[in-house]
Amino acid sequence: MKVCELPYERVTIEEIQEKVPAIVKAIREAGAVDEILAAREDLRAIIKRFYTNASLASMRYTINTVDEFYVAENEYYDEIGPQASALLQDYYKAMLESPFRPQLEEKLGKLVFRQWEIELKSMSPAIIEDMQEENKVVMEYSKLMASMEFEFRGEKMPRTLLMKYAKDDDRATRRECYEALGKGLQAHAAELDDIFDRLVHIRDRMARKMGYKNFVELGYYRMGRLSYDQDTIAVLRENILKDIVPVVARLRLENAKRLGIDGDYMLYDNDVVIPGGDPKPFGKAEIFAAAKEMYHAMGPETGAFIDLMMDNEAFDVDSRQNKWGGGYCTEFELYKQPFILANFNGTAADVDVMTHEAGHALNAYFCFDNEPFELGMGMETAETHSMSMEFFSWPYMGKFFGDKERDYRFMHALDSLTFLPYGTIVDYFQHIVYENPDMTPAERKEAWNKLEAEFRPWISTKGMPYLEEGTRWQYQMHIYESPFYYIDYVLAQTAAFAFLLASQEDYEGAFKRYIALSKKGGTELWPDLLKEAGLPSPFEPGALKEMAEKVEKLLKTLA
Ligand SMILES: [Zn+2]
Repeated sequence: MKVCELPYERVTIEEIQEKVPAIVKAIREAGAVDEILAAREDLRAIIKRFYTNASLASMRYTINTVDEFYVAENEYYDEIGPQASALLQDYYKAMLESPFRPQLEEKLGKLVFRQWEIELKSMSPAIIEDMQEENKVVMEYSKLMASMEFEFRGEKMPRTLLMKYAKDDDRATRRECYEALGKGLQAHAAELDDIFDRLVHIRDRMARKMGYKNFVELGYYRMGRLSYDQDTIAVLRENILKDIVPVVARLRLENAKRLGIDGDYMLYDNDVVIPGGDPKPFGKAEIFAAAKEMYHAMGPETGAFIDLMMDNEAFDVDSRQNKWGGGYCTEFELYKQPFILANFNGTAADVDVMTHEAGHALNAYFCFDNEPFELGMGMETAETHSMSMEFFSWPYMGKFFGDKERDYRFMHALDSLTFLPYGTIVDYFQHIVYENPDMTPAERKEAWNKLEAEFRPWISTKGMPYLEEGTRWQYQMHIYESPFYYIDYVLAQTAAFAFLLASQEDYEGAFKRYIALSKKGGTELWPDLLKEAGLPSPFEPGALKEMAEKVEKLLKTLA
């Protein structure tokens, strides 16, 4: 069925309030393992229906943020989501406390039990109202960002269209673009500061109500993190600072010479890589045709996947006003249908839709029938699927870029390496902010600038309206919308590089290991998945140093 025809039906809180407690009671009173498993299936059916319809409502809101019906439906799920989560907590407790737990663990695996434990740590009925308030404020931010207009050369446009000029070959154009960006944001400075300040305080309050010192610990639980903690991330951060930052700084400044950049290397120089202009892909029709060919060439499974996506029109990629500005992949589990939203703007980012987002979609397609898929997987695992697919697409880039394919590979690898320090800043900044919830907006901006100087020492923002104040994070939507969802990209990027390096030696073998990893979905923890795929862990000392050296060498062969 085409995605636009998928039936939508609201799942009400009344239904959940009626059915979930009855199921929990059945689990508690069960006299045999099979009875518990049967009750659990009833519950899973409700959850599946709930998430499918909530995802449909969310998707239809993002494709048209002024569609009144779906705005209201989306608000409804935001409103009832916390209540529904609170009811599910009783189910987790019932499973964890079951006298049949050893037999259940044998049937379901131990991992899902650990996930239930962490779910219990991530919320409590005492914070339902705070969670509802948080959802509303996040929605305020999303609406603000979607409606924001930027004036560029006398024309008003959404940020997604404006940022096309950030990749212009002409330096003055790029500067103009960033000036328009800065001025546009500055016009909403008070709102951006106020919304974030409220979010920080709501989140801090929730954490303290639950007995945590601050939001950082709660934030990690909400991300469902089981295989690494704050200490591990602190080690990773040091590895990035020591082994990645100097390499990226050197490569970027060397590249600045190729680009003929005089004087300071500015923030607006960091989006371009290739002299004469970064490679632009062919148009929309060609990109879709190339993706179809590529996935068929990769194998019959990936071929069947892309046919399903295209036959069911599971892409919305045109940029337009009132459409949500980001990109994502979601799925409608009930119909075993992934869906991809993006905002094409004529840059290489358009191709990412067919590699990165499609990497997520392929994983969803593989995993619809995986048994313990109750709480999904860690985001670092999800992003490993997508970011690795970007690299496995390398041999096919001629279909998207013609004779610029080499330039694309160079740009892609350099940009991906450059991302590691940036992603680390986004994460580190949130640690600082939530450990010090009473910082003023000015102090937060100062903290951001300090991190920029440490992790991206090659970049200057001197003289750039608003952005020089340390506000780059205000349009990094994750920081407002999904706290602590970011280091996952850094982790995944290291795994993707490991796959890239492996594929340079043996593409077929590496791709096979990638597909096997993707099919496992969230049934194993990320470090175990890496180990099985023969990839090094970025948490091990020295792992990033070797990776950076090899990637630098690879870049030299591509330049
Ligand atoms: Zn992704």
